Amino acid sequence: MRIHDDVQLDYCDVLLRPKRSALASRSAVDVLREYTFKWSPKKLHATGIVAANMYTTGTFSIAREMQKQNLFCALHKHYSAEELITFLKKNKKEMGHNDFIFVSSGVSDADYTKLTTVLKTKLIDNICIDVANGYSPYLIDFVRKVRQAWPKALIMAGNVVTGDMCEDLILNGADIVKVGIGPGSVCTTRKLTGVGRPQFSTVIECADAAHGISGMICADGGCTVPGDVCKSFCAGADFVMLGGMLAGHEESGGEMSTKIFQTGEVNMVDADHCAMVLQEKQYKKFYGMSSAYAQEQHYGGLKKYRASEGKVVELPFRGPVEPTLLAILGGIRSCMTYIGAKRLKDMPKCASFYRVNRQLNTIFGNE
Ligand code: 5GP
Repeated sequence: MRIHDDVQLDYCDVLLRPKRSALASRSAVDVLREYTFKWSPKKLHATGIVAANMYTTGTFSIAREMQKQNLFCALHKHYSAEELITFLKKNKKEMGHNDFIFVSSGVSDADYTKLTTVLKTKLIDNICIDVANGYSPYLIDFVRKVRQAWPKALIMAGNVVTGDMCEDLILNGADIVKVGIGPGSVCTTRKLTGVGRPQFSTVIECADAAHGISGMICADGGCTVPGDVCKSFCAGADFVMLGGMLAGHEESGGEMSTKIFQTGEVNMVDADHCAMVLQEKQYKKFYGMSSAYAQEQHYGGLKKYRASEGKVVELPFRGPVEPTLLAILGGIRSCMTYIGAKRLKDMPKCASFYRVNRQLNTIFGNE
C-alpha cells in the first residue's frame, strides 16, 4: 500500500512569521496586482479574490459588490443565457467592463451550448469550467475544446489537488487551475468518499507546479477568516475563491427566515407580573452545490446514482457584504506590513510559516 508520508497541512496548522520591514503603514502596501496569463492576452489590475460560483454567492448582486472593490465573481451556473446577457449588458454600461466576472460552465453539451450563446455576444470571455472531480477526462477534453474555440478567453478550470493535474490542465488550455477537493465549508466529500487533501499543502504544491509553466492557481474553499486568505496568498495562490465567508449577506442568494428565541432574561412588568424576553433573529440559507437540497432546488431531485456531497446550513444574517470585503482587504494589507510585502505578488516571497498546534485563544468563544 502506498502512503504519502509527508505532513499535509491546512490553514489552521500554520501561522505567518512576522518580519522586520520598512513598510511604515498599511497604506504603504498595494493589494492590487497586474495579472497576465499564459494563454489569454488579457491584462487585469485587481485583487485575486473570487466569489464562489455557488447559487448563494455567485449572484449578480455579489458580482457588483466585488467589482466595486476590484475583486472577482464567478457567477453560478443556474442563470439562463438570457439572464446572463441582460446582466452583462447592464454591468458593462454601469461599471465600464465585465473583466472581473467569470461565467461558469460544466462539461456537458448543454453547458457548451449555453456558454457559446453567452460568449458570442462578446460581452465576456472569462470562463470558469468546473466539475467536482477534475481528474475526469471530460474536463481536459472540454478545456481543450473551449480553448480552441476561444483562443483569447481567460479560462479557469478545476477542481484538482495535485501538481501533475494542474500541469495537464494548463498545457491543455487553462490559464488558471482551481484547486481544492473537500475543504469547503458546506462540503461533505471527505466524509462521504474519504477523498481530499488539506488545502494549505494543496496550494503550495499546485502553485509551484502551475507557476513552473506560467500558469496560475485559484485556491478554492476552506478559508474561514481573513487570515486564511492571507495564508493562501502567501502559500502561492494567485486567486482565492470564497463561499462561506461571503454567504449570509444581503447580496447573497438563499432563503431568509426569522426565528424567535427565548433569551432566559425576564422583564418585570410590575410587582406581580413578569414577561419573558424574546429575541428575533434572521437567518439566510447557505448550501453546498451538490447537497441533496441543491439537487432538489436546481435539478429536480437527487438522482439515484448520485450521493449528496454537501450540506445545508442557516447562517445568522450578516447585512451588506461591503464591510466583510473591506475587512478581508484590511486583513491582507495588515498581513503585508507584518511580513514586509509591498505588493500582493510579493507575499509568497516574503512569507515563512510556523507549524502550530494551536493558533487561537478561544477562552471567550471563537469570535
Ligand atoms: P468555502 O469558501 O465555503 O469553504 O468553499 C467554497 C467551495 O466549496 C466552492 O467554491 C466549491 O468548490 C466547494 N463546494 C460548494 N458546494 C459544494 C458541495 O456541495 N460539495 C463539495 N464537495 N464542494 C462544494
